[in-house]
Amino acid sequence: MTTVIDGRKLALDLRSEIAERVSKLRGRIPKLVAVIVGDDTASQVYVRGKRRACERAGLASEQIDLPAETETPELLSRIAALNRDPEVHGILVQLPLPPGIDPYAVARAIDPAKDVDCLHPENVGRLVQGNPHVKPCTAAGVIEILDRHDVPIEGSRAVVIGRSEIVGKPLSLLLLHRHATVTICHSRTRDLPEIARSAEILIAAVGQPRMVEGSWIQDGAAVIDIGVNRLEEGLVGDVDFDAASARASLITPVPGGVGPLTIAMLLRNTVEAFERIETAASTA
Ligand code: NAP
Repeated sequence: MTTVIDGRKLALDLRSEIAERVSKLRGRIPKLVAVIVGDDTASQVYVRGKRRACERAGLASEQIDLPAETETPELLSRIAALNRDPEVHGILVQLPLPPGIDPYAVARAIDPAKDVDCLHPENVGRLVQGNPHVKPCTAAGVIEILDRHDVPIEGSRAVVIGRSEIVGKPLSLLLLHRHATVTICHSRTRDLPEIARSAEILIAAVGQPRMVEGSWIQDGAAVIDIGVNRLEEGLVGDVDFDAASARASLITPVPGGVGPLTIAMLLRNTVEAFERIETAASTA
């Protein structure tokens, strides 16, 4: 019997846990600011979803839209102003950025205490060391799915297809720190289907519609599909869902799988940033 993860339901549970946490803050409200540079339609949709989720959980949110021609120094000075603003606790610069902007300079500019996406090198370093202040939202959402469905991580063979800075690498690290044996695959990996078949936990974070075929799945594997691909027929993942479901013990659909968890983790990261900032201020 294959368990199909209901990411929306799981996210709803998490959001009510977060809302309860916020209600105990006695009127002080964590605030997330999302910065979008350019007019990428998907970014607008993602940020709208994030802001709606903030509202429902009792968090404040704001969106800053900057034109595609914005240059790196202008973006950095907007970020610096948000760093200084005591009412702002989480800063999210929506990716992708237009090609002219230096993403590493942007990551370095965000106050590590307000970096709710784990982009700043200090936060990335803590993540590598296994002592993170903040975990990247999508990667944290995947761990949440595995934990809440009692998928054993320790000692398991995990294969992560994709090595991006925001998804594949951090998720591989989180799995490693939970004592999985992790193989990271990418566009130059040879014998990918065979490596995928060795996985008890198979993660696809590629951005290629239905690339992972049913025959790549080990019987009983947990299959997590992070990919979001827009086709004429609608959104599809990186995994051939129907074929993979026949073999997997647990699988995430697209849409309605990992996506909603990513947003819930962003809210949690914002509340935790708020708590850390408040604690630091009260002990200063
Ligand atoms: P990305 O930066 O484009 O990285 C894609 C990774 O896949 C790269 O490491 C690339 O390898 C690898 N790859 C590409 N083609 C491959 C192939 N044929 N075989 C094996 N590996 C291959 O993408 P990303 O930002 O990590 O996002 C991945 C997917 O997740 C996208 O569909 C994105 O929309 C989705 N996503 C979803 C969420 C969510 O909340 N659900 C959040 C973020 C992203 P190289 O490194 O060798 O190029």
